[in-house]
Amino acid sequence: MAETYVLQPDYARFEDLLTPSEIAMRNRVRSFVQDRIQPRIADCWESGTFPFDIVPGLAALGVLDELPPVIAGLVAFELERADAGVRSLVSVHGHLAQAAIRLFGTPDQQARYLHRMARGEILGAFSLTEPLHGSDPSGLEVTARPVPGGFRLDGHKRWATNATHAGVTVVWARLVGGTDPDGAKGPRAIRGFLVDAGTPGFRPMAIHRKLSFRVSASSEIMFEGCFVPESNALPGAVGLGSALKCLNEARFGIVWGVAGAAQACFEEALEYSKSREQFGRPIGAFQLTQGKLAAMYGEVTQSMLLALHLGRLKERGALHHTDVSLGKMVNVRHALNVARTARTVLGAVGILDSAVSLRHAANLESELTYEGTDEVHQLVLGRKLTGLDAFRGE
Ligand SMILES: Cc1cc2nc3c(=O)[nH]c(=O)nc-3n(C[C@H](O)[C@H](O)[C@H](O)COP(=O)(O)OP(=O)(O)OC[C@H]3O[C@@H](n4cnc5c(N)ncnc54)[C@H](O)[C@@H]3O)c2cc1C
Repeated sequence: MAETYVLQPDYARFEDLLTPSEIAMRNRVRSFVQDRIQPRIADCWESGTFPFDIVPGLAALGVLDELPPVIAGLVAFELERADAGVRSLVSVHGHLAQAAIRLFGTPDQQARYLHRMARGEILGAFSLTEPLHGSDPSGLEVTARPVPGGFRLDGHKRWATNATHAGVTVVWARLVGGTDPDGAKGPRAIRGFLVDAGTPGFRPMAIHRKLSFRVSASSEIMFEGCFVPESNALPGAVGLGSALKCLNEARFGIVWGVAGAAQACFEEALEYSKSREQFGRPIGAFQLTQGKLAAMYGEVTQSMLLALHLGRLKERGALHHTDVSLGKMVNVRHALNVARTARTVLGAVGILDSAVSLRHAANLESELTYEGTDEVHQLVLGRKLTGLDAFRGE
């Protein structure tokens, strides 16, 4: 195995803020990414496929199981240094699907799924978004109708990461036609269900021709009279708040992941600026280039420190969902700035897939949108700051 790659530079001494066990885990993941993922990521991007053969290796590293907050963050950072699609597979599997089962499942459901998921025997997906319901999922239309022995799911979901390859998909649907006093429109009507791969009437399909997240299995799902047994209804997953609780876990991973993408872009620009010569000098000798490098380094460092601060708050149980909104909004913006700036330093070379910055920038466009758009997080923070709710534009 090659020597573990050292992030360049670490003038902020971020490393000093980590414990030995955090550093050890980060280094194991970094080596795996460097050896098993980086060499093939451009090919995966070109073919629009996820390298699923790395899943057993990820499981062996322990990253498909629940991890302490800062270690989980460092893992997200390292995985996304390769590609956001890799980090997303792990985030959706762990922070969304496993979290839903852990938070809202019965002991039987936890025993049936969580161990197999931790070992990578089955992958998890999480399906909330629909074609007509994105930022505001409260009106979601996929229905769950009580039938003898369980529920019948009908409708159309979109954008579920991993769903075409998942062993289990957590599906959020509207309970209709039951005896629930809240009725189909009540706040408690949205429920979570576990849908196993191969269930008749459950039809996940790959979304193709993407210009972002090409190394990720994005899926459309049709539910056509899909029978889900009572034993696969998540009893604690009642109301939209349950789904949002899981999303908050995943957003924490994004706060860290995008910092990893930014680091990769910054390093690429820094190295190139020292070797590429124009006007008889390395382009890194020009003040304008140094200004870009200094700004990028500042944004990467700020992102890493904010991510770590949120991680330490989470360890103490003191992380509020608005803190995560702040981290997601700020760090995605920083990462996009860094990726776009890094691409300019690379000149024309920056549009080739042998360079990483434009690929990260394309991924970051999705990250600006998913898990709460940049605008939604502005509204969350605006509400926190003013006490006034602007979500419905009133
Ligand atoms: C690569 C990728 C992976 C994804 N993975 C998953 C997944 O695994 N599971 C899942 O369920 N979903 C997933 N999604 C879906 C994602 O969560 C949604 O795209 C996101 O919630 C935004 O919804 P939308 O795309 O329908 O945009 P819309 O909600 O239609 O928003 C369009 C624009 O309107 C703005 N807007 C909306 N409401 C307001 C408002 N009140 N004020 C101001 N502006 C507003 C938005 O900010 C945005 O700029 C994924 C998406 C992508 C791109």
